[in-house]
Amino acid sequence: MTDTLLTNGTIVTQDENRRIITDGAVAITGNRISDVGPADRLEADTSPARTLDIDGRVVIPGLINAHTHVSDILLRGAFTQDRGLYDWLFNVKQPALFEMGPEEHALAARLYCIEALRSGTTTFVENDTALDWTDLEPTRRKLDVYDEMGVRNVYGAGIRDLAPDEGFEQLFEDVTARDPDVPHPGPDALVVETDDALEDTVALIEEFHDPAGRQSVWPAPATLATTTADALRGAYRLAERYDVMTTTHVAEAKAEVRERGALSSIEYLRNIGCLGDRALLGHCVQTDARDVRLLARSGTAVVHNYRANMRLATGFAPVVSMLDKGVLTAIGTDNSILNDTVNPLSDAGGVATAHKGFHRDPGVVPAQRAFDMVTRDAATAIGRADTLGSIESGKQADIAVLDLDEPHLTPSPDPVHALVYGTRGSEVETVLCAGTVVMEDREITGIDGELPAVLAAATAAAEDLVGRANIA
Ligand code: FE
Repeated sequence: MTDTLLTNGTIVTQDENRRIITDGAVAITGNRISDVGPADRLEADTSPARTLDIDGRVVIPGLINAHTHVSDILLRGAFTQDRGLYDWLFNVKQPALFEMGPEEHALAARLYCIEALRSGTTTFVENDTALDWTDLEPTRRKLDVYDEMGVRNVYGAGIRDLAPDEGFEQLFEDVTARDPDVPHPGPDALVVETDDALEDTVALIEEFHDPAGRQSVWPAPATLATTTADALRGAYRLAERYDVMTTTHVAEAKAEVRERGALSSIEYLRNIGCLGDRALLGHCVQTDARDVRLLARSGTAVVHNYRANMRLATGFAPVVSMLDKGVLTAIGTDNSILNDTVNPLSDAGGVATAHKGFHRDPGVVPAQRAFDMVTRDAATAIGRADTLGSIESGKQADIAVLDLDEPHLTPSPDPVHALVYGTRGSEVETVLCAGTVVMEDREITGIDGELPAVLAAATAAAEDLVGRANIA
């Protein structure tokens, strides 16, 4: 029995052969795709409870954002001008996040989901690096919102168990001196005991992680500067035990280069046994050829946070050499306040363009590869190759439908080219996640037409938050 038939569309399957089916259809049964093929065959073979005639629109796998931050969205558009990584982190992000209450986190989550769904995102990996383990109410409220909105999420539970060393403390003092009136939470805020962090992570996984459902929880050691080797190893063991992954910010800024003496960040992770297919490393900007070889050899996945890296002027990861060497690479929008969007396709376009210019080689990072990095490669990078990332029978029915019949996309003889280089995010009309329609004709079902109210509340909450954090 077919529940839903999407028919009369161009299906960009992203299967192994990157098949594109014109006049195609997708049959959905329960939360899975039950058939994909020519519309006339599927219409004859199925008797769906509901038929969505999509009239020539383009159907893609739901996009996967492999590295992002949610609560920070309320700070969008403010205070990133002229600030480098640590200036932004210590003087803007951390003080403001520290001020946020559960209601504000929930509102941020709602706004985030609306924007993500409207851009065709069905899965995102949240790095909650500002998690306060003494108060999990914000986490619970956010997870409730994701559930209500019907999106698929990975919640990376941020772990910090290492007080900063002298050099890092000095960096904090120097950078925070620029904004003395901001209530800085301090360089060792949120630092907890290693065992407590790991035990609390287990409790979160056991309560919220649902392998058959839409919600996952991963241990997320925040950065190498704020996490011990014991926590990194413990997180990796937990990932093995619960069949999840770990995610960590690695080698983002110049200050992290050789922070462990002669060892690079990647060599250090290799030495402590934390490279491998359970590790998803965000950034990896400051990496050299040897690091790239280690990543490739160990099967470690990297998330390329291209646009955020450019905005904070850290440079960007050597993605061309990573792809050449076979490093599995996904794309993350990272912070919505550094981007300024959570739309993976706009970042895929940036990635496909920037590396060509940087290398003076139009052959690097083709559009198809960039599209893979937000669909099938991202699914593999987050350990979900068998269920997500392409439109194939048996996979989860996570699907976005786009209308490319727009002046800025005319003509578009190659849908993948148009998706990567031409879309603006406003073309997504309908989104299904786990077989359920979560957006139809750009109306998000989880907010009951309350979009203006959510936007007004987010604007008001952001103003209040910035005032309380005294950020100027
Ligand atoms: Fe990040």
